[in-house]
Amino acid sequence: MHNELHIPIMEMFYSIQGEGFHVGRPAFFIRLGGCDVGCSWCDVKDSWEASDHPSLSIAEIVEACVSSGAGYCVITGGEPMMYNLGSLTSALKSAGIYLMLETSGAHPLSGSWDWICLSPKKFKAAREEYYEVADELKVIVYNKHDLGWAEEHAAKVNSKCALYMQPEWSKVETSTAMILNFIRENTEWRISVQSHKYIGVP
Ligand code: SF4
Repeated sequence: MHNELHIPIMEMFYSIQGEGFHVGRPAFFIRLGGCDVGCSWCDVKDSWEASDHPSLSIAEIVEACVSSGAGYCVITGGEPMMYNLGSLTSALKSAGIYLMLETSGAHPLSGSWDWICLSPKKFKAAREEYYEVADELKVIVYNKHDLGWAEEHAAKVNSKCALYMQPEWSKVETSTAMILNFIRENTEWRISVQSHKYIGVP
């Protein structure tokens, strides 16, 4: 895949990382357009069609991030690894930005990252290379079966990878209860709640 010089961007905004290991940290979000994973419960379905979103140059994206004043940047989607982000991540790193990736792992890994959050999905399998490098495994729990499915992925990640289960938002009450019961018995796991949704920020 060629190194992208223009990338479809759904939205960019400065907020906080609401979930997972870096929860509460102010961060600039770059949400790329385009996803072919097709999660039935996806809450950003508007991101799926890449052509619905304007393609911005790397210079424009970096300028938006740098001018926000953020020191941390989360690149998410959509599925950001549908694109080769080598040039974008080099440019952001040259600007001194700490770079965090959120990915399903369904496409080849590209770019240079300070933090990789692997969030595998049942709808399109994660590639093996992600399990070796993931800093964080985040499994979305929609039903009881997802607890066992999460353990299958935990068995594959490297020993330094932090393990998180996160309730799927449309079933947050039942999923949260399931996760709490599970992590009392399986203490290597943590629960990740989507704190940004509780405090009303994007
Ligand atoms: Fe939605 Fe993410 Fe699943 Fe794509 S991988 S369908 S953006 S939840």
